[in-house]
Amino acid sequence: MHEVSIIQNVIEIATQKAFENNFSKINKVSLKIGQLTGVMPESLNFAFDSCIQGTMLEESTLGIEEVDALGKCEACNLQFSISHFNKLCPTCNNFCTSIVRGYELYVDTIEGD
Ligand SMILES: [Zn+2]
Repeated sequence: MHEVSIIQNVIEIATQKAFENNFSKINKVSLKIGQLTGVMPESLNFAFDSCIQGTMLEESTLGIEEVDALGKCEACNLQFSISHFNKLCPTCNNFCTSIVRGYELYVDTIEGD
C-alpha cells in the first residue's frame, strides 16, 4: 500500500529530526500534501495510526495540510487552479503544461519535547 510507505518515510524523517533537536518524544507531525499527489488524507491517518506503534511517534498526532493545485498558462502567463481532470486555461483554453504546485508531499513541521 502506497500510504504505508509514505508514512514509514515520514516516521524515518521525524525520528531523524527528533534526534537533531534532542526531542525524547514527538507530539505532532504536520505534512503538506498537494492535491495532485492522489494521496488520501484518511488513508494516511489510518496508515499513521498503525505504523507509529513502538516508535518515537507513538503518542503523536498527524496534521495534514492539503495544498491546492496551481498551473500556469504558457500563452498568457495566467496562474489558475487545476485538477487531474481540468488543466485548461480559463482565458485562452490552452492545455496547461506548467504545474506551479500540487505535487508536494513533505514533512512541514515536527513538534516534540
Ligand atoms: Zn492562457
